[in-house]
Amino acid sequence: MSAQPSEIGCGELPVIKQRGQREVFCGLTGIVWLHRKIQDAFFLVVGSRTCAHLIQSAAGVMIFAEPRFATAIIDERDLAGLADAHEELDKVVTRLLTRRPEIRQLFLVGSCPSEVIKLDLGRAAERLSKQFAPRVSIVNYSGSGIETTFTQGEDACLAAWVPLLPQASSDAPPNLLVVGSLPDIVEDQFKRLFAQIGISNVEFFPPRVSTALPAVGPATKVLLAQPFLGETARALLERGAQRIDALFPFGVHGTQDWLTRAAAAFGIAAEHVEEVIASAKARAIKALEAPRQRLAGRSIFFFPDSQLELPLARFLRDELGMQLLEVGTPYLHRGLMAHELAALGPQVQLSEGQDVELQLDRCKALRPDMVVCGLGLANPLEAEGITTKWSIELVFSPVHGFEQAADLAALFSRPLVRRLKLVA
Ligand code: SF4
Repeated sequence: MSAQPSEIGCGELPVIKQRGQREVFCGLTGIVWLHRKIQDAFFLVVGSRTCAHLIQSAAGVMIFAEPRFATAIIDERDLAGLADAHEELDKVVTRLLTRRPEIRQLFLVGSCPSEVIKLDLGRAAERLSKQFAPRVSIVNYSGSGIETTFTQGEDACLAAWVPLLPQASSDAPPNLLVVGSLPDIVEDQFKRLFAQIGISNVEFFPPRVSTALPAVGPATKVLLAQPFLGETARALLERGAQRIDALFPFGVHGTQDWLTRAAAAFGIAAEHVEEVIASAKARAIKALEAPRQRLAGRSIFFFPDSQLELPLARFLRDELGMQLLEVGTPYLHRGLMAHELAALGPQVQLSEGQDVELQLDRCKALRPDMVVCGLGLANPLEAEGITTKWSIELVFSPVHGFEQAADLAALFSRPLVRRLKLVA
């Protein structure tokens, strides 16, 4: 398959579109950060031993805490149709919920094996919900690696949860719903900033506990904190909410734009936002000076993985002076990315999807100073002397907002410094 520039949509940007072998984690990976965020939720993967190994190694071994995820293993008997998989699943769920009364939200997570044997987890969730309501709410979604990438796990989880959000009353005052899993510390920082700006009716989805689900209705204004939540956004719009279009809150520009456009949706002037954020913004600009010295002029190549690639590329170029060689993303959601695409401008080489061998050829020919990619590509590239950054780290680390801008920059400058020391 050869590189084919796509027919161009908004912004007239040239995009290489390729379909071929891909190197990405599956959507089960999202469980790692979601189970930490939602404190009374449990994620039961219905999958194989491979699925169990994947989430266990991604989450690390937990010795002291009872984990809030597990895998119900589909074995040969299930695959051969010798056992009733629904009956087996009911037994596992009953045992789990009897032993763990603190669980209030159970996610049944589909996988490649459960999709292959066409196990209807929607039916299972409905049946088990009736049995365990009102103590436990049960929702299903798919984290299967068939045609998905790892951040889509969060999107699928939240989109499946949207129908359970309470309906806001028709005369409810406008509320801001920030969507996307954020570390609690970042959530608290944003909450304080929104309050100072004059927006106090702010809620976050997913919430910290499942019993505090935010209400949604026509007066709800949705502000995405993560760029990979297209399905969730669509589900919220279907509930009558309106989406606020903005840059994503990475770096100083992104954070300011995100806050300013949210404020505008509530009739609050940009000048007021500028006053409120002045000191946090000044601190962030100062903190970016050191990483900028290390990164300015260096070139970077993004393989498609997290769907954070566009906003990160914009931050690295505009605030840290890096040179963008290719910005790959698994899916280019032109609606959600409209502002990011406009900010990047027409000179940036974008690519959507992947044929990994062809992309590796392009990358090696360009010899970038740094490559952002999944774990599977990092070691071979490092062995060839190319500095890499694991894209998964960008999802696990607190990177949003003014206070984290320098930490985000350091995630890129550290590997370069390490490489320079190694070759010195
Ligand atoms: S869901 Fe599919 S890709 Fe993910 S670990 Fe299980 S078998 Fe592998």
